[in-house]
Amino acid sequence: MKKYGLLAIAAVLFLSALAGFNFNQTASGKEKAKQPIIIQGPMPIEAENFAKRLKNVKEEKSGNFVFYKGTLNNYPVIVTKTGKGMENTAAATAIAIEKYKPAAIINQGTSGGHDPSLNVFDIVLGKRTVNLGSLKTPHKESNEGIHPTSWIPMDLMASEGSAGEDPNAEKARYFEGDAKLLKAAHAVKDKYTKGKVVEGTIGSADVWNNEVDRIKWFHENFGTSVEEMEGASAAQISKAYNVPFLGIRVLSNNKTNGGQYDPTTAAANQDYVFEVVKQYISMKKGK
Ligand code: SAH
Repeated sequence: MKKYGLLAIAAVLFLSALAGFNFNQTASGKEKAKQPIIIQGPMPIEAENFAKRLKNVKEEKSGNFVFYKGTLNNYPVIVTKTGKGMENTAAATAIAIEKYKPAAIINQGTSGGHDPSLNVFDIVLGKRTVNLGSLKTPHKESNEGIHPTSWIPMDLMASEGSAGEDPNAEKARYFEGDAKLLKAAHAVKDKYTKGKVVEGTIGSADVWNNEVDRIKWFHENFGTSVEEMEGASAAQISKAYNVPFLGIRVLSNNKTNGGQYDPTTAAANQDYVFEVVKQYISMKKGK
């Protein structure tokens, strides 16, 4: 009896050691190195150019979202065509995180300038990303009118309580760009010759602003460099899952200095982001 008891204990110890070993294996750096990098682009012109440059591409669809799963220098990279706007991007980001467990997400594409010192073809690295549609209006009675310049930023992530009633929510929520992705982006800045590459603040909402005074208001009150319709949405969902995130946006237009819309900027941005991803992969392999 005693003998069998000892044997049973030994067996249990052996099995738990085995289980522990397996656990360590799956959490090891080697396994982690296989987590894909996701590159998001809203419109076909903002995603397909990059997808074409991957090897061994397999296309997967979920809803409206297209995932081009391939490799770059033998590392898994998934280009996502998210569709335009905040809702599409939030859903495409959550699905990608649940399905593919990415190591990092880059949201990239075109944008409109808020900073008059930036020209069409310049690129903004999103040191910060902010939702320009999260706003609270002042209290006004019937016939007191609409006062957009008195609207207050509203932080929907401030608490789980009512954002409308909470004075602590009267501020903009900025999502920080990941330091390592920013480092990779800076390291290959010189490879981009069509304009300058600067750090800045990317503002997002399902709005295309053409009123220069309103653009100026966002620039002054939110510190925005550019506006687009996706970045803050992808940043918020990435943050919810703690996935490193960076927005990279080329100016395709700038109302503040007469910069006319040029759709060829989308391809130029993807060429630069391609260099960033290569750099990020080599930094990951190096460590
Ligand atoms: N001119 C294009 C507009 C596309 S909609 C067309 O008619 O098809 C806007 C898309 O371009 C969004 O994905 C958004 O991220 C980006 N964008 C570029 N410039 C913008 C701007 N000034 N304001 C808002 N979004 C802009």
